[in-house]
Amino acid sequence: MKKLLRNFIWFFLIFLAIAAVFSAFQNKKSIEKAGLQAMVAEVKSGQVKSIDVSGDSLLLTLQDGRQQEVKKETGESLASLMSDYKIDPVQMASVAVNVKDQSGMDIFVSSVLPILLPMVLLGIFLFFMMRGMAGANSKAMSFGQSQAKEFNLEKKEKITFKDVAGAKEAKEELKEVVEFLKFPKKFHDLGARIPRGVLLLGGPGTGKTLMARAVAGEAGVPFFHMSGSEFVEMFVGVGASRVRSLFEKAKKTSPCIIFIDEIDAVGRRRGTGLGGGHDEREQTLNQILVEMDGFETTNNVIVIAATNRPDVLDPALLRPGRFDRRVMIDNPDLKDREAILLVHAQKKPLAKDADLKFVAERTAGFSGADLANVLNEAAILAARQNKKEISMEDLFESIEKVMIGPERRSRVITDKEKKITAYHEAGHALVAHFSTQIDPVQKVSIIARGNAGGYTLKVPLEDRHMHSRSEFVEELAVLLGGHLTEKDVFGEVTTGATSDLRRATALARAMITEYGMSDKLGTRTFGDKEEMVFLGREIHENRDYSEKTAETIDGEVSGLLSLATEQANKIINAHREALEKIVEVLLEKETLEKVEFDALLGAKPPKFD
Ligand code: ADP
Ligand code: MG
Ligand code: ZN
Repeated sequence: MKKLLRNFIWFFLIFLAIAAVFSAFQNKKSIEKAGLQAMVAEVKSGQVKSIDVSGDSLLLTLQDGRQQEVKKETGESLASLMSDYKIDPVQMASVAVNVKDQSGMDIFVSSVLPILLPMVLLGIFLFFMMRGMAGANSKAMSFGQSQAKEFNLEKKEKITFKDVAGAKEAKEELKEVVEFLKFPKKFHDLGARIPRGVLLLGGPGTGKTLMARAVAGEAGVPFFHMSGSEFVEMFVGVGASRVRSLFEKAKKTSPCIIFIDEIDAVGRRRGTGLGGGHDEREQTLNQILVEMDGFETTNNVIVIAATNRPDVLDPALLRPGRFDRRVMIDNPDLKDREAILLVHAQKKPLAKDADLKFVAERTAGFSGADLANVLNEAAILAARQNKKEISMEDLFESIEKVMIGPERRSRVITDKEKKITAYHEAGHALVAHFSTQIDPVQKVSIIARGNAGGYTLKVPLEDRHMHSRSEFVEELAVLLGGHLTEKDVFGEVTTGATSDLRRATALARAMITEYGMSDKLGTRTFGDKEEMVFLGREIHENRDYSEKTAETIDGEVSGLLSLATEQANKIINAHREALEKIVEVLLEKETLEKVEFDALLGAKPPKFD
């Protein structure tokens, strides 16, 4: 668009220049214009020396050297004009009359050019415009072509397993794939069928994309990267033809890896009947299946796909001969977290006090991407303070930033609000401290961060994958602790607890409908959740239970919440002094670290499991 405008301005300028030249050219011989009457008078009085006839215009040259231009009617000759005006032929004889053929140049300049020039200019202008459009056009025409990015692995962006920290099992599995790509003959000779597809499963940011690139890097083969959503376009049929051209390209460069990121965008279970662009997705998926089936054993093309939604994938994708290898990549555990931090800390100068092991301990549940982000944020923080090294303080600050959001110290709150927030957070912290199965409180703060007015940070001592009912009830009590303390102290509640309540309700509901933790309803799940791509993301729940059961579920949810309320209230009432102490310090210092917190309340009661 910018280019178009520039072109336009150029042509406009050129046009102006030409116009200026023209007008100058025409004004050059400043000839005065005269009427026929005047001419007749001049001829009669013998002032005229000569007349040059050229087409319709007569150029009079007077005795005194002046020149005049007179226009006559087309087709009328000078002689008949003279006789019409009753001019004596004798008088006329003393005037030299030269009839000039209108020269080609004259006709051109006077009549053709004024019409031709704008047309030519317009033509040139259109030509350039079309050429600009043609660029876009040809893009539209090559729509069906795959736009897969090929990573040239000879360059220094080569990634190997060394760059992927942790994920030991996944690497083991993938080493096999590397072998296939490197020494296909070894396997062919034994009649082994080389796997065609490997599906990487794992939450967002667990390093699936990174892992796929590492496989290509290890094997030293080209790597075609394409995201599932790139197959789905506005035009119907584009997806399928893109798949075709991608596989075409890959077969030509074999051995190689095709990597389809976020395959759930196209590989969703077919035939659910709802959602826009559905047919298109089906066609694309079908084409992928057809292409994978069509691989010759000698093709040595391996398709690696990644998704974080294996549950929505079409079963046809998962049958043998397609994505028959599945590699799970989990969120890293403590050891892996430290390893990932080490990888990302390589180019960052850390201060002596910065202990990555400690960071790893504080970041349970973080994905690889989160950890990379923690180090990056810490580096940014350090740089903003013009420090040369990243200190432990920066790391802690950035963990909280990644976890909850940036601090918002500038948010103005009234003293009253501050007091309410202090009681609210103290309530959470107090209940957490005296609930035996809850992780120890790491930090309590009434500085706004992200959406939260304040926050209570609890850090797990170990990575856990299972949770019990009593643990969840304690969790509910902690969630409600803030709200209940407010109610207890001020006699009324504020809007500050909305998200706590929402989370508590969701947890209680999940306990009953998903984890089978209700005695009354027994060990079964309720509701068949299905995600549909319909007006964006929407979770649709198929109710597979009766109206009556729905009522019971509601009753059970309320029951759990009141159980938790009771538990929380008991703690709040039993430790009134401790609560006041926490609030006092919070109002004074705004944040309370673990050491100070434990000093105020004494050691956390031992855990029993
Ligand atoms: P996914 O594709 O699973 O969503 P990515 O592969 O894009 O995640 O990972 C995002 C970033 O997280 C990577 O670029 C890398 O910096 C970091 N990361 C994730 N896992 C690891 C790991 N195991 N080792 C090192 N870095 C990792
Ligand atoms: Mg990815
Ligand atoms: Zn709260």
